[in-house]
Amino acid sequence: MTLTDNRFTLGGVDMLRLVEEFGSPVYVYDAATIERQYKRLDAAFAGIEHEIKYACKALTNVNILSFIRRIGGGLDTVSLNELHLGLKAGFEPNNIFYTPNNVSFSEVQEAIALGARLNLDNLPMLEKLGQTYGGSVPVCVRINPHIMAGGNEKISTGHINSKFGISMTQVDAIVRVQEKYGLDIAGLHMHTGSEIVDTDIFLQGAQILLEAGRRFKTLRFFDFGGGFKVPYKPDDNETNVEELGSRLAVLCHEEMKHRGNSFYVCFEPGKYLVSEAGMLLARVNVVKQTPATTFAGVDTGLNHLIRPMFYKAYHHITNISNPHGAVRPYSVAGYICETDNFAWDREMAEIREGDVLAFHNAGAYGIMMASNYNSRPRPAEVFIVNGKAHLIRRRETLDDLLRTQILLDI
Ligand SMILES: *Cc1c(COP(=O)(O)O)cnc(C)c1O
Repeated sequence: MTLTDNRFTLGGVDMLRLVEEFGSPVYVYDAATIERQYKRLDAAFAGIEHEIKYACKALTNVNILSFIRRIGGGLDTVSLNELHLGLKAGFEPNNIFYTPNNVSFSEVQEAIALGARLNLDNLPMLEKLGQTYGGSVPVCVRINPHIMAGGNEKISTGHINSKFGISMTQVDAIVRVQEKYGLDIAGLHMHTGSEIVDTDIFLQGAQILLEAGRRFKTLRFFDFGGGFKVPYKPDDNETNVEELGSRLAVLCHEEMKHRGNSFYVCFEPGKYLVSEAGMLLARVNVVKQTPATTFAGVDTGLNHLIRPMFYKAYHHITNISNPHGAVRPYSVAGYICETDNFAWDREMAEIREGDVLAFHNAGAYGIMMASNYNSRPRPAEVFIVNGKAHLIRRRETLDDLLRTQILLDI
């Protein structure tokens, strides 16, 4: 987002015009930002052979998926529908990882039939795989390294109480299943959570995974998951991917010497690729003084962007209608009949009725976590590529809300 001559632009497109053209609220994504993030990560891991698999649950619009395919990425999916969206976006099945949790074996079988690469995280499933396919289907195994990494317990997935992965204390059991069925264990995986800023913790997890890997001679790769943090506030911290990349390359090359064979590594960034690329634009309906604060009430809410309420996530907000307005504190609240505050007493340029506010970092886990609560339709999505804005999802309507309802004639 750039400010020139009193107007904010995103990817070269005037942001207020976007609202005039596509209505409000609207999610907008900038292709150039996604590409910048992809290239930065790719360069950071240049010291080792690697694959970048976009963890697409962050944002699955097929146009975003095919853009990421065109710039060289693969895909990490967590449901069959994500897998199907990936195929629709033109990914080769062998460029799609399927990393489910607590699904039925029939889903896994369908993923195998579609040709996706498997990443399984429980022993009963490995048993079933062995019983049904012997060693004919290569599989990656998700390990829980038991470290607390990431922003907070809600977004940390590799700690002792986490439902994800097979405990590193159960590696013996994995070896037993492998021997029993001759399983082809092609890789070991970990994804320890979101928003990991501490390189040491990430490397500690990686070390545990590499050591567990010594029990498996058949390995071709290690998958270190995602969770790279991006800045959410001005001057916020972020994962130093360059430092991480160079230290991880050293660690892996030492491990290759130890193993006596080489391997490649995979990463599964979600947030890192798309968070900063996205903005949610919403209009101010009401400005209201209360004894406690001044509310700016907007035409969106927790039905469209739930991260502030669900994770207490900070989303920076800019009044793009009044770039040089006098700064004073506002509380920004949604229009849902729940307490859906986006910000409390935050310094912002003077807000007037009708102004448009831009919610930053809305590309990841924004529209994907949106709902129809209060029977509100979900917003439109717009993708900016090469200075041009394209509608990539139309706004929902009342008809969409009724589409799956069955009207009884009784
Ligand atoms: C969600 C997820 C990711 C991506 O997490 P981010 O914090 O968005 O980078 C990566 N791998 C797996 C298995 C996931 O479930």
